[in-house]
Amino acid sequence: MDVRRRPSKALRPAPKEPSSAPEPTGAKASDALPLPLYFTNALFFTLFFSVAYYLLLRWRDKIRNSVPLHVVTFSELAAILSLIASFIYLLGFFGIDFVQSFIARASNEAWDLVDEEEGEDHRHRLMACSPSIPDHIIPAVSSAEDEEIVDLVVKGTIPSYALEEQLGDCKRAVRIRREALQRITRRSLQGLPLDGFDYGSILKQCCEMPVGYVQIPVGIAGPLLLDSFEYIVPMATTEGCIVASTNRGFKGIYASGGATSTILRDGMTRAPVVRFPSASRACHLKFFLDNPSNFQTLADEFNKSSNFARLQSVQCSIAGKNLYMRFSCTTGDAMGMNMVSKGVENVLAYLRNEYPDMDIISISGNFCSDKKPAAINWIEGRGKSAVCEAVIKEEVLKKVFRTSVATLVELNMLKNLAGSAVAGALGGFNAHASNIVSAIFIATGQDPAQNVESSHCITMMEAVNDGKDLHISVTMPSIEVGTIGGGTQLASQSACLDLLGVKGASKELPGANSRLLAKIVAGSVLAGELSLMAAIASGQLVQSHMKYNRSTKDVSKVGS
Ligand code: ADP
Repeated sequence: MDVRRRPSKALRPAPKEPSSAPEPTGAKASDALPLPLYFTNALFFTLFFSVAYYLLLRWRDKIRNSVPLHVVTFSELAAILSLIASFIYLLGFFGIDFVQSFIARASNEAWDLVDEEEGEDHRHRLMACSPSIPDHIIPAVSSAEDEEIVDLVVKGTIPSYALEEQLGDCKRAVRIRREALQRITRRSLQGLPLDGFDYGSILKQCCEMPVGYVQIPVGIAGPLLLDSFEYIVPMATTEGCIVASTNRGFKGIYASGGATSTILRDGMTRAPVVRFPSASRACHLKFFLDNPSNFQTLADEFNKSSNFARLQSVQCSIAGKNLYMRFSCTTGDAMGMNMVSKGVENVLAYLRNEYPDMDIISISGNFCSDKKPAAINWIEGRGKSAVCEAVIKEEVLKKVFRTSVATLVELNMLKNLAGSAVAGALGGFNAHASNIVSAIFIATGQDPAQNVESSHCITMMEAVNDGKDLHISVTMPSIEVGTIGGGTQLASQSACLDLLGVKGASKELPGANSRLLAKIVAGSVLAGELSLMAAIASGQLVQSHMKYNRSTKDVSKVGS
């Protein structure tokens, strides 16, 4: 079956890009036409040109014989009708693609005139598959048609990745891809839901080749009393105890008067690696970048592609002939990887003119360092660096946590400090910061892979007020969060951000929402640390896990 055939509107593809899927050849008879498509086209072409030729001859004869043009014979009338009919057919078949590509070109040009970044956002929406159209008014498709397309995907005639573009209907594309996958693998995807998700919202920005979505329950913990405000924190997790334990931590913090937080630093980083013919040339560029009088030139280049990315610093490191430049910038409310990368590209283009012998090896040379454990993030910070503290009263420790100041302080020293040192930890001087970070990241649409450095945390505990109360703090140098861009735009994640009052871009001060989110993450980690450490100290850990984290169902039966 030719997916470009005319009769089925639902199958009419979006305007083609040069890279789009190869055209399936050998058109079969279409549903509406009794003949193969190429034959029907040839027929109408021949009809059009032959009747046009015939009418022109008749016209010439009439002029020569002085016969009025409006006096037509029956054969001339038939010829005129055939000409009109074939013209309509040809216009309908070839004209629509032309008009579509014309409209697409016109709208692309319009977007190019818009501010680059704003345009990019809107273009995403333009390319999406009309997510706002309710299912019931999307033209119904016969299962016979879907069946044919599934068959072509299974055979490899239509690439699975091209379905959204070819069909112009995201949900239908997912349904067909899913079916093809089940047939190819002979595995059932039953249990992986298809309905109830807006596949248009992830197109070209969040996930390619979707076949469904994974459900993760979202629990709530709170209120977290932080800097005199209360927050109910959404946590997406499948590990029992995490939400309950954080909730208990919040309760203890609340009863003790709340927690206080500070953002120490806010800057996303990207570090390209460039190579020179010699180490001395690499050092020459390092000295150029280190010179404060050159900073403004670099900042002007860096900042020109964004209204929000503002260069803060460039930190250099040399390895022989190779130079690693760690650019750091503010990114408003976005987590900022795209922004910082664009800024770095601008600077590299500028440096290339100044240093023609510079060879750009990679936009990321791992000195950034993204999604990998690295001391640079632990020491210098990346994203938001936050510290959060609370003084937990003696009676609260006794009543809520069933432990004491001295027990917790000793446990923290032996486990989170000495124990982690013995293990050679890198940023892991805590009990379970990553449990809380991951759960909030997933609920609020953050990049879960950045949990690696975002969970770097040192938990400190100290006796205060003559040993009666506990001072607890978490210091987290690289919390990488945003409230705009990426997964934060999706409906569920955006609802969770809204619950916290940090959805989207801050209207008052760009960056205020993302910084508040980082503080909430730190406050929640503080609660998680307090509660888990207390559970270990009082010997409750195994009991509570048996209560919340073990199903009473016979797991062996479920498995089989
Ligand atoms: P990231 O850099 O985190 O990958 P994106 O580039 O996907 O983020 O999304 C950020 C987009 O949101 C940019 O196009 C930017 O212009 C826009 N934007 C609008 N308001 C803000 C804001 N307050 N802070 C940051 N970005 C904003």
